[in-house]
Amino acid sequence: MADLLNVDAAIARILEYIQPIEVEAVHLTQALGRILAEDVHSGVDLPPFANSSMDGYAVRAADLGTIPTTLQVVLDIPAGTFPTQMLQAGEAARIMTGAPMPEGADAVIPVEDTDSEWALGGAAPSTVEIRKGANSGANVRPVGENIAHGQIVLRKGTLLRPQDLGILASIGHAQVQVARQPKVAILTTGDELVTADEALSPGKIRDANSYLLAGLVTEYGGIPLVLPIAPDRLEAVRELFHQALAQKPDLIISSAGVSVGAADYVRTVLEELGEINFWRINLRPGKPLAFGMLHDVPFFGLPGNPVSAMVTFDVIVRPALFKMIGRTDEPETITSVVDEDLISDGRRSYLRVTLHREDGRVIARQTGTQSSGALFSMVLADGLMIVPEGVTEVKKGTNVTVRLLRDVK
Ligand code: AMP
Ligand code: MG
Repeated sequence: MADLLNVDAAIARILEYIQPIEVEAVHLTQALGRILAEDVHSGVDLPPFANSSMDGYAVRAADLGTIPTTLQVVLDIPAGTFPTQMLQAGEAARIMTGAPMPEGADAVIPVEDTDSEWALGGAAPSTVEIRKGANSGANVRPVGENIAHGQIVLRKGTLLRPQDLGILASIGHAQVQVARQPKVAILTTGDELVTADEALSPGKIRDANSYLLAGLVTEYGGIPLVLPIAPDRLEAVRELFHQALAQKPDLIISSAGVSVGAADYVRTVLEELGEINFWRINLRPGKPLAFGMLHDVPFFGLPGNPVSAMVTFDVIVRPALFKMIGRTDEPETITSVVDEDLISDGRRSYLRVTLHREDGRVIARQTGTQSSGALFSMVLADGLMIVPEGVTEVKKGTNVTVRLLRDVK
């Protein structure tokens, strides 16, 4: 396979051309799924004041030497208020969950462990009988327990999840610096292709790639710009690429027309527009790949077969997109056991497999045909089993790495 370009070498060459995209400020309400473009440190302690984790009575633990004991209720502290009176020996304060601890108190006795019966909106009693003891600190959430002032909260490159938005809100970080969403033009060529809405006539098939590539772009935080399918004619293909460039995309992806022997106007047009490399990658599925710059816009020409297009996107385009938006996490993988002998051709192979648990191990089984045109294999697959380059045989029972496409059942 000496004439094939190694997958990692191809990625490394491509990444040299990929520049990080600009940063923009968005409000928290718009930040879900975006990539954080700043390290966020907390400017506050969370919680900002010691508070009760229970509805009950704030007490001095030292007063509870003998149980039961009766204390004078001298204060009532609803959430959202701040007590200014200090608790003296023999005194208690009625307190609600989240309300600030009064000075002098160091523990909270839950209402269930007292003689109190609270009615909704009822006033605090004048005395309370405490029926269970507590150590200093019981049911108190100390200042900074959650986050300390100055602590790093989230790192640059993080994909923002709901809990991240919650914590950013908690520290008052309402405007967030995130990577701009890249606009990705998606181009499709082929006389045989019609859209999902159109009727088929003999010899035609429906375009799958535009939809699945648009889905991948959206899933990874980009904005897909799907252009109309161009027929296999030089003028039409040229017009398609000019239309794409006119939309000022950050990335252009085409599928089909880069394999040898295709009705190959894509290649002609690419050579007119930029410096393009046509590679044969040591990858299965997905050997043919074109990459270059079209008027300063990075361009990927993916294979036409839908499985190849999808795998090539995942293996090669995704790292480029991640570099562009500064995203730092890696796709999840799992170690699993092959349930049959496999042969491979020495290219790095991504086989569609289902996964199931058996005796504490995860077993990987091929979904059926591994034809690169059989997109349904991707629908069935829980993951892509990675057979490394140079490996031609995998024996039943061997451990292999699987790139997860969904959680293991
Ligand atoms: P090509 O690269 O044009 O030789 O195409 C390789 C194979 O992929 C052929 O079987 C095409 O019909 C198929 N193909 C190309 N583009 C698409 C598409 N957008 N959706 C589904 N199949 C496609
Ligand atoms: Mg074609």
